[in-house]
Amino acid sequence: MMDELVIISGKGGTGKTSVAASLAVLASGAVIADCDVDAADLHLVLSPTVRERHEFLSGNEAVIRPDECTRCGLCHAYCRFGGVTRESGGGYAIDPTSCEGCGVCVRFCPARAIDFPERRCGEWMVSDTRCGPMVHARLGVAAENSGKLVTTVRREAQRIAKEEDRSLIIVDGPPGIGCPVIASVVGASTVLAVTEPTVSGSHDLERLLALTKHFGIPTAVCVNKWDINPAMTAAIELKARETGARAVGRIRYDTTVTRAQVAGKTVVEMDGPAKADIIHVWDQIRQRRGTDGER
Ligand code: SF4
Ligand code: SF4
Repeated sequence: MMDELVIISGKGGTGKTSVAASLAVLASGAVIADCDVDAADLHLVLSPTVRERHEFLSGNEAVIRPDECTRCGLCHAYCRFGGVTRESGGGYAIDPTSCEGCGVCVRFCPARAIDFPERRCGEWMVSDTRCGPMVHARLGVAAENSGKLVTTVRREAQRIAKEEDRSLIIVDGPPGIGCPVIASVVGASTVLAVTEPTVSGSHDLERLLALTKHFGIPTAVCVNKWDINPAMTAAIELKARETGARAVGRIRYDTTVTRAQVAGKTVVEMDGPAKADIIHVWDQIRQRRGTDGER
């Protein structure tokens, strides 16, 4: 049986990736998937060696063939997105950052001078790391559709897990509650929500818990830097339990976390107090792996 553990947070900067990287080390041999495709940084601590590189294609974009363009200007007149620019010499060109790929200019060009190839929106890679294979991606500048790229990364991680007979996939999910987050959690075995004991952290967590409850995904919560506000930590854990989620541990504030980032290591590869806390979180999750239907 293959389990998929997705680590998410209500917003960036809560320590989500530090926790995900540490769990990847502790799990030893899991497939790792970096689904935080808008701000991927798991590679900074896991130092992957790329073994496969693939283009990520999504949607289409118009491209004018200047030699066949009669300069009638219809494409410029019909485009509602400002995707066609008039050049100083009187010709027309597509602005790839404005083209929405609607295909109107392609359809109405009387000279049939506009190509409509698939749009290259980024790339995804399969790499080797010291903890196991990793699938990660890079979204192009101004490229959209990160939800589809997240789905691609998850699908490839699942394929590798099956092919290499690995029973666990650890996913570093995107922050927030938008489309990429939904793409990264739907169908997962367990979600681990990492939060901080602040008013905004508590509010973000509430929205996350509502999301995972809606999709019926077993959810665990851990509070990072819990000791900066013990009362808020207790309130967050209570709220988590009330929604049916499990509180699986607290990670104390520890300067080792920053030192680990600078050294390109995970927290559990350094000697600091947070190491024991993350090991405790992992033990809690591992003990409950395979518990059916429980949030
Ligand atoms: S509609 Fe076609 S022929 Fe007319 S300006 Fe645009 S590309 Fe050129
Ligand atoms: S494909 Fe649509 S958005 Fe792109 S340039 Fe043509 S009309 Fe404009």
